[in-house]
Amino acid sequence: MAMGYVGDQWTLDVKGYTVKTGYQLLQGQHPHVQWYKEVWDSWFLPKHPIIGWMIKQEALNLRDKLHRLNICGSNMCVICEKEPETHQHLFTQCEYSRTVVLLLDDWLSSALNGTVQGLPTRKNICRLVQITTWYTLWKERNSCRLDLVVRRPESLVKDIQRFVCMRVKMMLQEQWPASNEYSIWLRLRDTI
Ligand SMILES: [Zn+2]
Repeated sequence: MAMGYVGDQWTLDVKGYTVKTGYQLLQGQHPHVQWYKEVWDSWFLPKHPIIGWMIKQEALNLRDKLHRLNICGSNMCVICEKEPETHQHLFTQCEYSRTVVLLLDDWLSSALNGTVQGLPTRKNICRLVQITTWYTLWKERNSCRLDLVVRRPESLVKDIQRFVCMRVKMMLQEQWPASNEYSIWLRLRDTI
């Protein structure tokens, strides 16, 4: 059903225009997405959510799409050259990405082991690691396309760990050094 001022009638509110209904109309009706927390968190850098949204919407210009549009000669993954480069392949199935994710999973489970369960900080850190991994994989894929060289997964993992540690420390700067949250940061730092 159309909304707004249609056929001399304000269809969103039978009583006519109000600031509230006008605001609702301006906002539009957007589908509620379950994964928005994965791509939006106050702990992220502003550049992170953009890549997160594009990955979730499968909107990056990857070879699979470019090949179909006759823009790129090959549809194979820039990094492994074994499978077509789709969003699912590049960020979850590629051997290279899987190695990076496994190393980071190991790191997180040993760093968070023994820390207080259910602490919101743990969720923030897990989301931060995921979005930073996506962003770093995307950057690595682009530099690999230009330079034809890909760094070792361990090197990428170190960059991600260092960034996450720096960001966590920044976000926890108001915490007492003896707090549960602060102890998580110390464990992250000491397990790199
Ligand atoms: Zn691949």
